[in-house]
Amino acid sequence: MILVLEKEITQDQKNNIRSILFREGYIVREMSEAGQNIIGAVGKGDKKASFFEALPGVAKVVSISTSFKLVSRQLHTENTRVQVGDVVVGGERITIIAGPCAIESRDQAMTIAREVKRYGAVLFRGGAFKPRTSPYSFQGLQEEGLKILAEVREATGLGVVTEITSPAQADMMMKYVDVVQVGARNMQNFELLKCVGRIGKPVVLKRGLSSTIEEWLMSAEYILSEGNDNVILCERGIRTFEPYTRNTLDLSAIPVLKTLTHLPVIIDPSHATGIREKVSPMARAAIAAGADGLMIEVHHDPDHALSDGAQSLYPKQFGQLMRDLYVIAPVVGKQIDFDYLDKAKAVDYLSRTNGSGIQRAAFLGEMGTFSHKACMQYFGTQVAGVPAPSFKAIFETVKTGEVDFGVVPVENSLSGSIHENYDFLLEYDLKIIGEIKLRIIHHLIGHPGAKLDGIKRVLSPPLIFQQCRQFLEQHSDWELVPVKDTASAVKEISTTKNPGDVAIASKEAADIYGMAVIEEGIETNPRNFTRFVIIGAHPLDKGPRRKSSLIFSTGNQPGALYEVLKIFAENSINMVKLESRPIHGKPWEYMFYVDIETDSESETFRPVLDQLNEKTDYFKILGSY
Ligand code: PEP
Ligand code: MN
Repeated sequence: MILVLEKEITQDQKNNIRSILFREGYIVREMSEAGQNIIGAVGKGDKKASFFEALPGVAKVVSISTSFKLVSRQLHTENTRVQVGDVVVGGERITIIAGPCAIESRDQAMTIAREVKRYGAVLFRGGAFKPRTSPYSFQGLQEEGLKILAEVREATGLGVVTEITSPAQADMMMKYVDVVQVGARNMQNFELLKCVGRIGKPVVLKRGLSSTIEEWLMSAEYILSEGNDNVILCERGIRTFEPYTRNTLDLSAIPVLKTLTHLPVIIDPSHATGIREKVSPMARAAIAAGADGLMIEVHHDPDHALSDGAQSLYPKQFGQLMRDLYVIAPVVGKQIDFDYLDKAKAVDYLSRTNGSGIQRAAFLGEMGTFSHKACMQYFGTQVAGVPAPSFKAIFETVKTGEVDFGVVPVENSLSGSIHENYDFLLEYDLKIIGEIKLRIIHHLIGHPGAKLDGIKRVLSPPLIFQQCRQFLEQHSDWELVPVKDTASAVKEISTTKNPGDVAIASKEAADIYGMAVIEEGIETNPRNFTRFVIIGAHPLDKGPRRKSSLIFSTGNQPGALYEVLKIFAENSINMVKLESRPIHGKPWEYMFYVDIETDSESETFRPVLDQLNEKTDYFKILGSY
């Protein structure tokens, strides 16, 4: 049951409720959900709801209607994020776990780990205790395999995941690995579930070969009821009458689980299909269906693999899949971050060296703006987002060091460049240290129960009105009221209490301010993406830099721009953007903004730099990232 507490509850009343619940044999979870304080209580107690409702400080008691309680979304409406070192499973970024079926040798594990890390995996998998159908098949290297996993983590920085097959292995798991996996064959091994619940390490809980979603969630309930909330559900295919694939991948489990539980959901397309060629299509589909991550088997020499070679991707195939997922993820509001681990390390280093403890990033407007979302997707929860009143304030506070980073939009695929920020990039001596592209879905948001008919005024920034032009043209009697950002628009209508006032903003903003979506996806074209750049006083020291942004001006003579662009052509440098902006105080003279696919800080770029300096009047590197 869920005990919703009164707003004015005292600490003494809370303590009293907790001790009564403990006395009655309940497992108690205290939390704050959507601004309300609640206590979740699960157990076999025989007291009626009315008994608890009568306790001082309790506003109401709601029973949880499903057989699983602690894993239920009724108890915990927000998504659980499982933290594994620097990696978060269930957050804004997709988690890719990759590696061989089994650890076969130190060389094999190191080779594959380096390959999967290079292509963007953030955790490494490999079995040391292998539950095999035949007792004569390779059973795994056992403790030796775990030691190799620990060495892999040491050498690559990747957290490691491995299967536990018996409670007797618990101490070894504690010593060597970051995440334990309960395999499909052990999903209902209740002693093992209780054991992984007690050891407290994050758990990947695979779905049993012939288990229903409810049975699977009940198994997760065992782990949570022992005090371990860090459970990741992994769908790996179920047994059906269909023999063309090893199992049948139940992708519909993703949206089903997303409504039933707050736990993160990942997909294992390798065991689900059993066939190398089928793995990538199912992996792509899983991300499109809303999975929080994937667990994929990869082997550099699958023909000689000791287990599951036929379903293991070659490293190159894994790399290609990652590139595809990088494109697919923003469509469903997520990201694949190729710099995930390097970025985390760099931010951590900065936090420790400058003594501030936590890094801060400024974004425009209130919580719930697209800039806020971009900030969260770029940094995860490692960096604290700080709302700023204007773009100029973002540049200023980064310059003065009040915040460490800024997140600013520079370009939208429907409404074009955000010129104000291009001008600030020129004016301020700051570096672009990264970029992120977000799909922008606009919703018409109003008071719960509000209808299209009663609408009088629409609040949003002018740029957003442009992006929703077609929809707004159908309602020409609505007054368009410009405000500075999308989340402020929602905040404002929530305070006016006028059902005729609506806002255009993200779903997140509607949730934050308790408003409802009246019409979904009203942007003119669904291919609506905004590119944000991350600015900082110093470049983030991270992995390979793929792109650079430059600003230059040329003399006013025939072919001047051509002479500069020729330098890129002759050096086989791909230019991905060219934009011109008037130079303030110099009518009809222009500054050019260029993005190129190269690292402007590399040695090989040095001669190109000399040529560029020679052919331009003004030249500045905004950053490589
Ligand atoms: C594995 O991940 O290697 C494995 C044995 O998976 P499952 O338990 O899903 O068969
Ligand atoms: Mn396997």
